[in-house]
Amino acid sequence: MTKIITAENIDEAAKCIADGGTVVFPTETVYGLGADALDDDAVLKIFTAKGRPADNPLIVHIAHRDDVYKLASEVSEDAKKLMDKFFPGPLTLIMKKSDIVGGKVTAGLDTVAIRMPSNPIANELIDKSGCFIAAPSANLSGSPSPTVARHVIDDMDGRVDYIIDGGSSQVGLESTVVDVSGDVPEILRPGKITYEDLKEVVPNILINKGILAETDKPKSPGMKYKHYAPKADVTVVMGSKVNVRKYIESHIADGVGVLTYKGGSYGDAFVINAGDNMEEYANGLFYNLRLFDENGVHTVYAEFSDEGGIGLAVKNRLFKSAGHKTVDADNLI
Ligand code: AMP
Ligand code: MG
Repeated sequence: MTKIITAENIDEAAKCIADGGTVVFPTETVYGLGADALDDDAVLKIFTAKGRPADNPLIVHIAHRDDVYKLASEVSEDAKKLMDKFFPGPLTLIMKKSDIVGGKVTAGLDTVAIRMPSNPIANELIDKSGCFIAAPSANLSGSPSPTVARHVIDDMDGRVDYIIDGGSSQVGLESTVVDVSGDVPEILRPGKITYEDLKEVVPNILINKGILAETDKPKSPGMKYKHYAPKADVTVVMGSKVNVRKYIESHIADGVGVLTYKGGSYGDAFVINAGDNMEEYANGLFYNLRLFDENGVHTVYAEFSDEGGIGLAVKNRLFKSAGHKTVDADNLI
């Protein structure tokens, strides 16, 4: 049975982690499904609860910056600069793993993904458990990541030992992932910490090509899987406001919903406003995708415009949730 608690009872949850159990906890990005990262049996429970493919490695969460040196065998100068600037926060760094890190959490790779969350509940849980906590997003594999406890319960009730309800996630999208295990740092997954932010610290940083395209040989194993998809079928519609509206209006029918950007309505269709800027779009994206499902919507048209910054992370998640189904409303044949 799953116990649903708040941070007041965090000691129970920390003990559960230390004893090899599983705890869902809030972080500033999305909710994470945690277990002792150095205990292979505990890590296996995460993969089972999520139905996650065993070749998709997990992020290891730490409460203290110096713990990086226990988990990584090499910490480059670029890695140090990025840690100084962005830890704690929504940035994950990939480094060569040390010998204490087992093969389950890294899915057999010789690198490990490390993040130091800024959410105080996450931090306290890690600290009190006395463990490093492996934690992917707390959704069933393939579904949108949960940003509120209600969505965690929908996916994970009965599959984990504890769920800590810590309110809404502040960012709403998973961490930015940067590989600093090679000579040149490379962004493997965009997030709230943007390319522009990172470039100020490590000017030679690259963006992995797999971020926006479908690819057979991704550098980050997670890139090749279906991701973030609600039950509804999603199509992303881009172009001038007039043409986007015309296209979507001609597709309105029973069970069709619209994710608008910067407001607007579509007759009787079920409409959710994604926000007035890309921060808001990012913050609500996963929540909104689940809201369409909860309201019986089977087809979603999502208005989107390419704006850089955190817009790159929104684009990455939204395109995946749509299975890369996009329409350019300015160039319809
Ligand atoms: P999640 O925890 O579900 O947000 O996913 C973690 C992401 O980090 C996935 O896309 C993983 O493939 C990626 N990741 C974790 N560890 C590594 C690693 N050692 N090398 C490359 N990517 C990694
Ligand atoms: Mg995930």
